[in-house]
Amino acid sequence: MSGDLPRIVVIGGGFAGLYAVRGLRSAPVHVTLIDRHNHHLFAPLLYQVATGALAPAEIAQPLRALLRRQANMQILLGKTIDLAPANQRVRLEDGS
Ligand SMILES: Cc1cc2nc3c(=O)[nH]c(=O)nc-3n(C[C@H](O)[C@H](O)[C@H](O)COP(=O)(O)OP(=O)(O)OC[C@H]3O[C@@H](n4cnc5c(N)ncnc54)[C@H](O)[C@@H]3O)c2cc1C
Repeated sequence: MSGDLPRIVVIGGGFAGLYAVRGLRSAPVHVTLIDRHNHHLFAPLLYQVATGALAPAEIAQPLRALLRRQANMQILLGKTIDLAPANQRVRLEDGS
């Protein structure tokens, strides 16, 4: 699918990561989004969950659902523990 395309790694599916990935949806690249959680958290509404006005599921959406229409990307679940930009390597907590 993405053999010869430039590969871009985005770490974190928060606001910044989501917008970065979406901004690349038509670009001739393959994007890998890595997050330690499988969901995007809409942090500004956290206090409404804390006060019982909203259920947790109302402010946390699965990353795969949010990005399901984007073909040029994959999502990896994992905590990033090291970066080596010179070697183009990202190391995850699970050793991958
Ligand atoms: C209670 C609260 C209310 C807020 N209200 C507002 C508001 O009203 N208006 C406003 O503009 N801003 C508000 N903010 C701030 C706003 O939420 C942040 O500015 C915004 O979320 C930052 O986006 P981000 O993508 O940089 O980080 P985040 O949204 O925090 O996303 C970071 C992502 O990276 C992932 N991640 C982190 N470390 C790793 C790792 N080592 N490996 C893999 N994944 C990792 C996390 O799981 C997360 O998904 C609020 C924040 C809070 C907590």
